[in-house]
Amino acid sequence: MAGVTAHKPSESLSMSTLAVKAGRPPSEPDQPLNEPIVMASTYVAGGEVEYGRYGNQTWRAFEDAVGALEGGRALSFASGMAAITTVLDLVAPGQTVVAPRHCYQGTLAHLAALEQRGVLEVVLVDIDNTAQVAAALDDNVALLWIESPTNPALEVADIPALCDAAHAVGARVIVDNTFATPLVQRPLTQGADVVVHSATKYISGHSDALIGIVVTSDDQIHRAVDEARRVRGAIPGTLEAWLALRGLRTLHLRVERAQANAAGLVARLREHPAVDRVRYPGFGAVIAIELTGGADAADLFTRSTSLWVHATSLGGVESSLERRRRWQGEPLTIPESLVRLSVGIEDVDDLWKDLSQALGQTLA
Ligand SMILES: *Cc1c(COP(=O)(O)O)cnc(C)c1O
Repeated sequence: MAGVTAHKPSESLSMSTLAVKAGRPPSEPDQPLNEPIVMASTYVAGGEVEYGRYGNQTWRAFEDAVGALEGGRALSFASGMAAITTVLDLVAPGQTVVAPRHCYQGTLAHLAALEQRGVLEVVLVDIDNTAQVAAALDDNVALLWIESPTNPALEVADIPALCDAAHAVGARVIVDNTFATPLVQRPLTQGADVVVHSATKYISGHSDALIGIVVTSDDQIHRAVDEARRVRGAIPGTLEAWLALRGLRTLHLRVERAQANAAGLVARLREHPAVDRVRYPGFGAVIAIELTGGADAADLFTRSTSLWVHATSLGGVESSLERRRRWQGEPLTIPESLVRLSVGIEDVDDLWKDLSQALGQTLA
């Protein structure tokens, strides 16, 4: 399928321009401005793609856009977890993976399953403690998994220092960049080998599609991930790829607004008597708060909002919240009273009015 490769804007463009321009069809008479939703299980023989599990031009447009933003080549998957399990399964048996003690529950669950089956050794660390992570890195370590900020504790890793320490023992580094987005941090430029995203979250941004992505500037890793996707078949839906690309066009505007809202809310949350602790890394739009009234107060709080939606997931235009320990698999080191807030792009005063009335109910 020659001509599938979308026009790539030059490297010198800013992130905002790339978000709008990358992954477009060539600018030629009668070309559509957007890559269409191509529904095809197979293609006429003799081209580059051949079969619907091997490639699709709608995925490709989305991949070109994310690749431009992260500074590598991207491959999209059915979900963030499809992307994550695919790259974790590339680690050779008998090797060790070092990973954050607090990170996405599904990532921890898959690592635990691999360890239980005797495939890998897993060492869990506090990813914001660079000395502790460095001490865990030895010759058996094939992979350092970083999530930063972590979900939902919001610890921040020193990515350049950790990449140096991992590479010194010959380990690869993968960064789950879902929370930060490429607008806030670009791990491939800081030394990471691979970036993964749950594009379900900020990249799509509208809570209407599940999709994942793997980005790397290493050709060998790119080939291995592509081969694994072809065989495992955890491919994205074409409509999802189109929705995700449609969402990505406004990523910079959404992140900017959500981040400004988050900063405004953090200042007010810190003053509220119902709030014992506010965790906010100073960037991004996820906040975690611990309530003075404990788990019951946190549950009451999540039931008492009207504008904020009580739901899991994050990164949508709408603000949502949930008490993380309501989930069975959440690490026990996450406080029972911790509520994760995903700040959306509504009016910040409306958001605060709703939050403060719901917090007030926990003090009554
Ligand atoms: C949601 C999430 C995932 C999993 O992505 P899905 O698209 O739900 O499969 C992975 N990592 C992080 C940080 C997430 O927030």
